[in-house]
Amino acid sequence: MSIQKIAVVGGGTMGNGIAHVAAQSGKSVRLLDVSSDILEKALATIGKNLDRQIKKGTLDEAAKKEVLGRIETGTDVAAGVESADLVVEAVPEKIELKNTLFRTLDEAAPAAAILATNTSSISITEIAAGTGRPGQVIGMHFMNPVPVMQLVEIIRGIATTDETTEAVVGLARELGKTPVEVNDFPGFVSNRVLLPMINEAVTALMEGVAEAEAIDTVMKLGMNHPIGPLALADLIGLDTCLNILEVLHRELGDDRYRPSPLLRKYVAAGWLGRKSGRGFYDYA
Ligand code: NAD
Repeated sequence: MSIQKIAVVGGGTMGNGIAHVAAQSGKSVRLLDVSSDILEKALATIGKNLDRQIKKGTLDEAAKKEVLGRIETGTDVAAGVESADLVVEAVPEKIELKNTLFRTLDEAAPAAAILATNTSSISITEIAAGTGRPGQVIGMHFMNPVPVMQLVEIIRGIATTDETTEAVVGLARELGKTPVEVNDFPGFVSNRVLLPMINEAVTALMEGVAEAEAIDTVMKLGMNHPIGPLALADLIGLDTCLNILEVLHRELGDDRYRPSPLLRKYVAAGWLGRKSGRGFYDYA
């Protein structure tokens, strides 16, 4: 199956990056969000990221115009997915929200369309079971920032067909990414391994083991990580980190995934990391 028309639902941190790489690969893109302000911000972010590519000499002004010309935006999700070959959902990591949205997508998208979710941790099998097309539901987990990061974790639900998997693996390659297939377990591979490390860094900060900069520097210089765990949490979004840890804790039933109280406190304060201007670091 050839995927040419892609609808991206959710124009936040991940959605705008997915729209960017899809449009840059020549796909026709509909970027959909409940908020027109977010959509405006998303287009501005894509423009800024394309400018960065121009500065590096990997893109020119004419190509930038073409990429932006392939992205349409809208706030009516049902209408926006009407002619899509593939829908990629990138709304917040809340299971009820995703289940409700997938019912809408299932009703509104063409019968042949594949419905993918960018979820970081929620069961693909469960999301798929709420639709009438579980064989055509799959996890397509992009990494942040999407235009830069190489990996797409491809997660098969219990009912996902080979045809769906092949189409999505092929698309990930077309987008210039490296797909890696994994099975459907909470947090998959990436977040099952990453989030406990971030959570432990937050707990170390809470217990006064070291300041945020010191914790990040130890992990960067000592473990050769390109970015420290607290700076990475700010990049991911502290609300997203908390939501993923809650899924891991609930689904795996093991207290080692219990979110740090300090992470909860920051989220309650609205300190969500880069996107709110403050997290473990100040971005004002
Ligand atoms: P975000 O909060 O930045 O953006 C979510 C967007 O969805 C918002 O703009 C919001 O207005 C919109 N939205 C909410 N309800 C909607 C609806 N019913 N219809 C259309 N739009 C709706 O979140 P994000 O960080 O982009 O995360 C999106 C998904 O990607 C989550 O499942 C998250 O776990 C996953 N993810 C995030 C990262 C990361 O680093 N942030 C990395 C990989 C995967």
